[in-house]
Amino acid sequence: MHSQIARADVSLSALIGIHNELIVGTIAELGSEEQKAQWLPGLSELTQLGAFCLTEPTHGSDIAGGLATTATLDGDEWVIQGEKRWIGAGTVAAVALVWARDTADGLIKCFAVDTTHPGYTATKIANKMGLRIMQNADIVLNEIRVPRTALLPGAISFDAANELLKDSRAWVGWQAVGAQQAILDILRDYSLERVQFGKPLARFQVIQQTMAEIAGNLAASSAMMVQMARLQETGELEMMHAAIAKSTATRLGRQSASLARDALGGNGLLSDYEISKVLATSRPFTPTRAAITSTRSSCPAR
Ligand SMILES: Cc1cc2nc3c(=O)[nH]c(=O)nc-3n(C[C@H](O)[C@H](O)[C@H](O)COP(=O)(O)OP(=O)(O)OC[C@H]3O[C@@H](n4cnc5c(N)ncnc54)[C@H](O)[C@@H]3O)c2cc1C
Repeated sequence: MHSQIARADVSLSALIGIHNELIVGTIAELGSEEQKAQWLPGLSELTQLGAFCLTEPTHGSDIAGGLATTATLDGDEWVIQGEKRWIGAGTVAAVALVWARDTADGLIKCFAVDTTHPGYTATKIANKMGLRIMQNADIVLNEIRVPRTALLPGAISFDAANELLKDSRAWVGWQAVGAQQAILDILRDYSLERVQFGKPLARFQVIQQTMAEIAGNLAASSAMMVQMARLQETGELEMMHAAIAKSTATRLGRQSASLARDALGGNGLLSDYEISKVLATSRPFTPTRAAITSTRSSCPAR
């Protein structure tokens, strides 16, 4: 399903994928019964959106070791203080899943914060060139007081976040598969229609070679992702598999988009012909490989 939504629109697939994997998934897998009852009905029907608040202005790849947002238990309430950046749907979400460091034990935990709460401010990040359906936000969490029960009982260390991110990395690989299907659709249609030197571009071997390279990239990405799905099904998927699948499929996807953009000539630059939109989507959210390394070094028990 992920790849087919991405085939229609990569940006829309980012919105739906993050919603399913990191919002609904986090609450369903790590939340309390009370949190599930409060948030899952609206989120599952998409009448509400959520925001996954991990990245910070000064901590991206090094978030596991560097996360600076704090949560302090004060009587029956948690007091949350900090800033987040790049947060998808942060301006429109009903619930923010905020990852913060417990000042008592130093562990990173997740809290469900109602965004109508005083102290929650979200500002849209402007001028984004790709993935524009999903708006991203800078978020300020100014001494937000939430009940003790806002803590997700299953999310009491960064290992929990890492498990979620492992699956979302896998999903990004499927996005790259869908994007390459779209690239092939666009190039095939264009090269059959566009006539140069008296015949359609599709009749020239150099264009056929481009299509063959893209089809090869697509086949390689799909085969890798199918194997990854098998590993997921049997519970054998490791972070390394997900990271390799994501980085390889998106690398091949970028190469395919670049080849097709070239084959569309000047029209490759116009959003009317779609290829520039696919090219601009590049690689969406999930912390980079450096985050895995820093997580491992900050979690000696793993
Ligand atoms: C469209 C979009 C949507 C997003 N959505 C969300 C969201 O919903 N929630 C959320 O919490 N976050 C979100 N993010 C943030 C995303 O997770 C971060 O952008 C990502 O973790 C990288 O952090 P950074 O951008 O600060 O880059 P940096 O960490 O500053 O990295 C910059 C470059 O340096 C490289 N680098 C960094 N450290 C090392 C190292 N040790 N060795 C080698 N290279 C290194 C990186 O690979 C990268 O190429 C989103 C980002 C984007 C662009």
